[in-house]
Amino acid sequence: MWNEVVRAYSNYAKYLEKQILHPIENGPSMFYLLIGLSLFVWFLEIYFPWRKNQKIIRKDFWLDAFYMFFNYFFFNLIIFAALSSTTERLFERAMSWMGFSGGPVFSFFTELHLGWQLLIFFLIYDFVQWCTHNALHRVPFLWKFHRLHHSVLEMGFAAHLRYHFMENIVYRLSLYIFLSYLFQFELKYTFWLYAITTLIGHLNHANIPLSYGPLKYILNNPKMHIWHHAKNLPHTHPKGMNFGLTLSCWDYIFKTQYEPYSGRDIDLGFENVEKFPKSFLEQLIEPFRKNE
Ligand SMILES: [Zn+2]
Ligand SMILES: [Zn+2]
Repeated sequence: MWNEVVRAYSNYAKYLEKQILHPIENGPSMFYLLIGLSLFVWFLEIYFPWRKNQKIIRKDFWLDAFYMFFNYFFFNLIIFAALSSTTERLFERAMSWMGFSGGPVFSFFTELHLGWQLLIFFLIYDFVQWCTHNALHRVPFLWKFHRLHHSVLEMGFAAHLRYHFMENIVYRLSLYIFLSYLFQFELKYTFWLYAITTLIGHLNHANIPLSYGPLKYILNNPKMHIWHHAKNLPHTHPKGMNFGLTLSCWDYIFKTQYEPYSGRDIDLGFENVEKFPKSFLEQLIEPFRKNE
């Protein structure tokens, strides 16, 4: 077990080194992709701003930029690489104790045309995330961690990846259970999936007046997602609304869609957001503290 942990760390460290220092020889690099997409969306914010008096380097810009790299790369190096393979094994063991062997029920997917496989994979991937995001709002223990994402007071693209590292674990565990374990999808083509979902996620938080016209019923967008960050929740949606990540259709289907008027200047955050810690380390520790 110890060897496995060490191997996971050193493999991930090698992967990071390749991504950063030798991107060309090793195929598409997530590291430069993240930088490229961020610069692209930032450029759009600068030239087509929605809130014209919001600064280009807005409040918490650098903190959020730090979160972006921390959550995408370094968190893995610190905790996740070591944990994931052991957790997966423990999970499989726990499931088999309960009599589940996983897989075969849904394995007919592998016989479908590749295009269909990708589409179904993406739909399940996004729907599982939508359900997980709902849980982050509705389960008090999970909301403690998700509050950090909602502590953004001025929206900009980098706010997309401002979240507590525990969310990585919650999302990946739910994706793992549904995609790898139950459906037995192989996680290839993930580079392009990450590229598209990161771009849409950046845009959702960007200071750009975008809603994609009729495509808004399918794709999440900045005008819709800003309402997800609204400080004052309507009595019709006391636990929140617009939970979509990449796709918005789930919110239309499950009636959690809410966009009563332009959300350009609404107050963001949650009750007493001004008391929320301001520094990175304090924000990481905050959910583990006892309620005062
Ligand atoms: Zn949320
Ligand atoms: Zn958000």
